[in-house]
Amino acid sequence: MYFVKKLYLPETLPEALKILKEHPETTILAGGTDVLVKMRHKRMRDVTLLSLAKLPLSGVEDKGDEIVIGPGTTFTALAENPIMQTRLPMLCTAARSMGGPQIQNVATIGGNVCNGATSADSAPSLFALDAVLTLTSAGGDRRVPIREFYTGPGRVKLESGEMLTAIHIPAGEQARWGGVYIKFSTRKAMDIAILGSAAVCELGEDGRVIKAAIAMGVAAPTPVRCTDAEALLTGKTPTAELLQEAGRLALTACSPRSSWRATKEYREALIQELSVRAFQEAYRLAGGKAL
Ligand SMILES: Cc1cc2nc3c(=O)[nH]c(=O)nc-3n(C[C@H](O)[C@H](O)[C@H](O)COP(=O)(O)OP(=O)(O)OC[C@H]3O[C@@H](n4cnc5c(N)ncnc54)[C@H](O)[C@@H]3O)c2cc1C
Repeated sequence: MYFVKKLYLPETLPEALKILKEHPETTILAGGTDVLVKMRHKRMRDVTLLSLAKLPLSGVEDKGDEIVIGPGTTFTALAENPIMQTRLPMLCTAARSMGGPQIQNVATIGGNVCNGATSADSAPSLFALDAVLTLTSAGGDRRVPIREFYTGPGRVKLESGEMLTAIHIPAGEQARWGGVYIKFSTRKAMDIAILGSAAVCELGEDGRVIKAAIAMGVAAPTPVRCTDAEALLTGKTPTAELLQEAGRLALTACSPRSSWRATKEYREALIQELSVRAFQEAYRLAGGKAL
């Protein structure tokens, strides 16, 4: 049984923002795969919902120097989008790794981000890609880097009356560029990540790393970037030894906990191993040699 006090179904963004301003207690409903589960488990009662179903918030646009993803884009649409497949295949991997086909058909990337879970499968890739979010209210837009958006478990920097209206991913020249997402879970589908690891590597003409980004999910209360490991790799030509050292340094950004899925110690071992594997593969995709 779902206890819904009222359901708004706005057809335009200004209409939706007006409702959010006048009724700040309203919960935004995208695919509902988090919201409806909470309602079903009675963790939310007598809810006023604002559905995004009729708003033009889905789709992917290639603007040359950035890819813009509508937050209402489902994971199936994301994985099947030709722009994503060509420019950002690591996000297609993430999309295909979450839930199962039924969940991917309705769950949206915006809902995944705004739910604030450290296990969100889109988060490590969005962190590694330096995604920036447009948050819109009746008063206008503001942009927030995703790295500042997550504030704690299940908590994000959405102010009252705001909604996520666009996800921007800087994506310039992609020669000598590689990006990878690895989800570690017990099962291949319908399972939450024990650890998620994403890496981006960009190489200069001389084969040195000019950009190294390594991000982790479920390694801390929020997704994190492993900045010490990134600093070690930047400016260097990777070797197997350097990667092992980067793996050890990846731990400095992390504070994993024990849960019924895995112990803290197991997650620490995964952080070292998966940060190396993800960066190794990103380096190879960027044109570096297999290590
Ligand atoms: C069986 C099952 C398996 C799952 N497996 C996975 C998995 O493997 N990996 C994973 O990451 N997740 C998984 N999930 C969780 C869930 O599917 C995802 O987090 C999903 O992306 C949520 O998207 P949604 O569109 O359904 O969001 P909703 O449930 O509609 O909303 C989620 C939250 O985001 C807010 N919100 C949504 N859109 C906006 C917006 N545009 N602006 C502001 N706030 C917004 C809502 O108010 C709510 O707080 C699973 C869920 C189920 C039920």
